[in-house]
Amino acid sequence: KIQVNQLQKSYGTNEVLKGLDLTVQENEVVVMIGPSGSGKSTFLRTLNKLEEPTAGQIIVDGHDLNDAKINMNHVREKIGMVFQHFNLFNNLTVGENVMLSPVELGKLNKQDAKVEAKDLLKRVGLEDKFDANPKSLSGGQKQRVAIARTLAMKPDMILFDEPTSALDPEMVGDVLAVMKDLAKDGMTMIVVTHEMGFAKEVADRVIFMADGYIMEEGTPNEIFSNPQNKRTKEFLNKVL
Ligand code: ATP
Ligand code: MG
Repeated sequence: KIQVNQLQKSYGTNEVLKGLDLTVQENEVVVMIGPSGSGKSTFLRTLNKLEEPTAGQIIVDGHDLNDAKINMNHVREKIGMVFQHFNLFNNLTVGENVMLSPVELGKLNKQDAKVEAKDLLKRVGLEDKFDANPKSLSGGQKQRVAIARTLAMKPDMILFDEPTSALDPEMVGDVLAVMKDLAKDGMTMIVVTHEMGFAKEVADRVIFMADGYIMEEGTPNEIFSNPQNKRTKEFLNKVL
């Protein structure tokens, strides 16, 4: 469970997050939508401390991230992140990419990591790509490897920042299918996406962000069929 209280983030005089409150329960899938520049990526990045908040509180499973005693590496292991651009290591095979972190962090020996990586690649539909070079994969396949790599850390929660935005349209469905599968298996997820179909079908809750605030939140049905906020309505009129 993650709890965010009055989270603020400024870059110089640019107030990007102006006081966000959000609680995400275990097994919950939250989809975050909103216009470009509204602070969605910044928000995700503060959640696993890729960015330091200017003010406010983030509590992960009862641990306040402001607490100096917190082991940030441990927090980052528990909160996985999948980005628009996947950054696989091209000097390693697909399988080695997935094995890398658990081995380097001493969580698994190579043998066990290999078994685990094969399993994870199977889960994302790429069991035949273990020995392939990442360069030989399509964008959608690379993103699925990136998801397998994140899963290899056994995170409690995964943050997705526009995981399909850089993909050719025909690749999007495969990646969304993997994410849908994770949701069904009970993974806690926050997903920033423009895929409204995914939001409608998979989200437990949809959050509309604009101007550094959560303007509105609700079930997919509430947000898509009966939005209350003027800004939400304007945004949906543009994207739907
Ligand atoms: P998009 O939909 O385009 O990805 P977003 O909602 O993810 O947009 P952010 O990337 O969070 O928006 O950016 C919000 C604001 O914060 C923008 O004004 C951006 O210029 C600013 N910003 C983001 N990162 C930095 C940074 N590292 N340094 C300075 N300003 C930043
Ligand atoms: Mg963004």
